[in-house]
Amino acid sequence: MSQFRLAFFLSIIRICQCVLMTNMTDMRNFLKSYNTHAANANNEAVTIAWNYYTNITKENQAKMTESDLDMANFTKVWAAKANQFDWKRSDLNATEKRQFEKITQLGFSSVNDTAKIELKSNLEAELTGIYSTGKVCLTEFGKGCLELEPGLTDMMANSRNPNELLAAWKGWRDQTGKKMRTKYTEFVNVMNEMIKFSGFNDTGEYWRSWYEASTFESDVKKLYNELLPLYEQLHAYVRHKLKNKYGTALFPDTGHIPAHLLGNMWSQSWSNIYDLLTPYPNAISVDITQKMKDKGYNVTHMYRVAEEFFTSIGLDKMPTSFWNKSMLEKPANRDVVCHASAWDFYDGEDVRIKQCTSVTADQFLTVHHEMGHLIYFLAYAIQPVIFRRGGNPGFHEGMADIVSLSFQTPEHMHAIGLLDSIPNDKESDINFLMQMALEKIAFLPFGYLIDQWRWSVFRRETTPNNYNANWWDLRCGYQGISPPVQRTEQDFDPGAKYHIPGNTPYIRYFVSFVVQFQWHKALCDEIGYKGQLHRCDIYKNKTAGAKLRNMLALGSSKQWQDAMQVMTGGRNMSALPIIQYFTPLIDWLKEQNKEENIGWSAQCPSNIPSPDQTNNQARLSVSTETVCLIIVTLTNFLLMSM
Ligand SMILES: [Zn+2]
Repeated sequence: MSQFRLAFFLSIIRICQCVLMTNMTDMRNFLKSYNTHAANANNEAVTIAWNYYTNITKENQAKMTESDLDMANFTKVWAAKANQFDWKRSDLNATEKRQFEKITQLGFSSVNDTAKIELKSNLEAELTGIYSTGKVCLTEFGKGCLELEPGLTDMMANSRNPNELLAAWKGWRDQTGKKMRTKYTEFVNVMNEMIKFSGFNDTGEYWRSWYEASTFESDVKKLYNELLPLYEQLHAYVRHKLKNKYGTALFPDTGHIPAHLLGNMWSQSWSNIYDLLTPYPNAISVDITQKMKDKGYNVTHMYRVAEEFFTSIGLDKMPTSFWNKSMLEKPANRDVVCHASAWDFYDGEDVRIKQCTSVTADQFLTVHHEMGHLIYFLAYAIQPVIFRRGGNPGFHEGMADIVSLSFQTPEHMHAIGLLDSIPNDKESDINFLMQMALEKIAFLPFGYLIDQWRWSVFRRETTPNNYNANWWDLRCGYQGISPPVQRTEQDFDPGAKYHIPGNTPYIRYFVSFVVQFQWHKALCDEIGYKGQLHRCDIYKNKTAGAKLRNMLALGSSKQWQDAMQVMTGGRNMSALPIIQYFTPLIDWLKEQNKEENIGWSAQCPSNIPSPDQTNNQARLSVSTETVCLIIVTLTNFLLMSM
């Protein structure tokens, strides 16, 4: 629809608002009609986005921008139609009213200015493009030029050379975040301007509204504080072990851990350095990467095994189209967005995964995660299109992960032939819990802080001239990690994490890490499991699958608190199950950490230790950088003034 016709149409509707239609049959017919049209419109939009994400070209980007405009128009037109009805005061049932309510929520589509919609869409594509095509040349280490996946990711995971790790860590930030700073500032501004038309103060407030709880911000803060003692114990243990490995010279005296030593580009999961942290090296540790290779696993087989888990508990098989249309491996001949993702094409059948899969234990988990999303899509396909979402965004991620809690147990590894015997000694058990903690506990502050930063940016409490400083305040303060090399406002380290350029809200992952343990406990209780929570495997248990499906099938047709009640009997998020799960490990860590100072200072260290320099030289290099920054800033100012 052209802009003119749309404006005309909207003005007619505005004039007509005084006489709202009250006929119930018309309202129900409207909902039916919306459903058909929305399924088609979404299918078209998702197809165009898929084409771009699996083939980054200027042409595909232009099509996506056009499609964003169409989608915004679609949302606006149908919201206007819905508002012609007096649905609020009608006798429609609660579910029907909820459909109307959601159809009339415009989000970013409320803006009429096409230029703004186009700008937002273009900036998003450009930012994602910078991220997805970033390459770091590490010729001095004989590595050539590496992309994030698999090259840099493997290097961060496997290298134990701190200089090499530092080069990869810094190189990635130079090649991505640093190039985004100006565009990101513009992006924040345009989003905030657009969302005001929907009555929100800023984009962060809009994102939080999806959780349908006025206390959401304080609820997650409370959960974070309840979980902090677990993280502090893990942090102290890991710091001690890493000091043994790398020597104390690399570590600041503020208690922080240098960010490049944790086996991951963002220090968000520490699983890859388990070899340096193994509590009992002589006891059994589950390490299936080698076993997968020995057993001749290939990419397709990984997806088949994941599918078998879901069907074993009575959930859906992947449709034939999944196998034909997904992108399960990285194509050689074109640029793609490798970051793994799950796609719903809104026709009740076409669901796909896009992942540059390789045969490793890590990727095997991601395969289960993405397929978990698809299972959710298929379960709520019985709902009207407007309800085909998770109970809240954290629910979708929680569902994607819940299987991992069963899948990773030694019991399950043994059941699928990836572990020769089931260990039952205390030492192997602590080893297993340590592996889980490096994934699940290590992540918590990271999952919490990303949107603390972004909400603050949207509120304009964090402004472009302190983007990076505030980012590091949070990283140092919450995660207890420190930058391995001096950072300045020339850098833009948030941009080196996919979800910032990709504009994906992040608090959902924190929520997910809490609720998945609640659900795991609920399912294990349901099947009458009596052992320790961390050894429960719901594999092949159709009772567990049926209970899970009951919640999944709701989609967002009810508030998430209702869905939570279906699953757990309670209506709130709770940290107790995750605490219960890890209690044996936490008790053990407290013993190990008796000599350690638990925690770290709230501020980042002012000096960055370097192994090649004495302390004096380190201080000198910091002050040189500060001087450079001032000169650069002044130059910019002068250039702008002229
Ligand atoms: Zn996910």
